[in-house]
Amino acid sequence: MYNNFQAYLKKELADIESAGLYKNERIIVSPQGGEITLKNGTKALNFCANNYLGLANNPQLIAAAKEALETHGYGMASVRFICGCSDLHKALEAKIAEFFGTEDTILYAACFDANGGVFEPLLTDQDAIISDALNHASIIDGVRLCKAVRYRYANADMADLEKQLQAAQAQRFRLIVTDGVFSMDGNVAPLDKIYELASKYDAMVMVDESHSAGVVGRTGRGVTEQYNLRGKIEILTGTLGKAFGGAIGGFTTGKKEIIDMLRQRSRPYLFSNSIPPMVAAAGVKMVEMMSATNELQDKLHSNTEYFVTKMKAAGFDIKPTQSAICAVMLYDAKLSQTMAAKLQEEGIFVTGFYYPVVPKGQARIRVQISAAHEVEHLDKCIAAFTKVGKELGVLK
Ligand SMILES: *Cc1c(COP(=O)(O)O)cnc(C)c1O
Repeated sequence: MYNNFQAYLKKELADIESAGLYKNERIIVSPQGGEITLKNGTKALNFCANNYLGLANNPQLIAAAKEALETHGYGMASVRFICGCSDLHKALEAKIAEFFGTEDTILYAACFDANGGVFEPLLTDQDAIISDALNHASIIDGVRLCKAVRYRYANADMADLEKQLQAAQAQRFRLIVTDGVFSMDGNVAPLDKIYELASKYDAMVMVDESHSAGVVGRTGRGVTEQYNLRGKIEILTGTLGKAFGGAIGGFTTGKKEIIDMLRQRSRPYLFSNSIPPMVAAAGVKMVEMMSATNELQDKLHSNTEYFVTKMKAAGFDIKPTQSAICAVMLYDAKLSQTMAAKLQEEGIFVTGFYYPVVPKGQARIRVQISAAHEVEHLDKCIAAFTKVGKELGVLK
């Protein structure tokens, strides 16, 4: 039975490889951090993790996780509503709500699940979802699982959003959904204008704060802090897998009744395991740390400004960014791969992106800045970019 299917898969895989799209994995043997150790013993500076605040190897989070391992054990072995809810899960939900200034929070195994399980329980075929064209794959999949009428607007294009909202007046309820930070460009969704349009056209708003939580806003409270809209957005989703420690877990936070309905009806919540107690305990510690000091956010913001300023001065074409994502524009697909490979030889981990991940002719290298980086790391990265940039004729 397998022979034909095997031949088919082999051919498909060969096609992926010959198109240069085959994904290989880098094997890391150290904790995640600004500097990492690889399986072959060499060290590299990591500029492609989502470890924005450097918490993936934070001693206080490790201590909190260890303590919970002792007091609460390793796993919950249950979904939440059967017997998978500990005091630590409830504590983390309350902490996340406090962090964002929202009414309640529901935890998931991942933000992919939070987005996969948020639309279908809330909206029906009488309703409308108006979605940014560049939203994350998990939002796209979540919308597919829901019967609501779909409208799409061009990335952060407010004239187009208004047009779609006018068309969506035909439906009962309207929900605008957007990423907080778009991961390929580093731009922030214009939430002030989205909120204005939502008020004008009687729509609710959902923001995925995965790349913005802990990063955007002076104290890292995300795009609702940046635009002074704390507590005003109906639904926020986010991940514990990026700035918030980098382990695993996701959440939806927002209006009380919405969260309550998700607890009753959201399928990834009802039919999937609870996060381990140690992850919940470390999450509680993470919010406490961020409430006690703004040190990590300040360091991240100054690192990002330093990096962008110096890269521009070196002559690179950098997309305007409002986050910790820095897109070094190269425009040529092959060049983006060659340059990323050469940077890796220099001990700098970055990722080259090209079509279809970004629009045709918009190939780039994405650099992700972290509070785990020291100025010397940033300087090494800039020096390597400059060296390789000159070799490849990107810099004159
Ligand atoms: C990373 C990401 C997710 C997925 O988060 P996980 O917790 O890793 O599943 C969802 N949405 C956005 C916008 C993301 O960047």
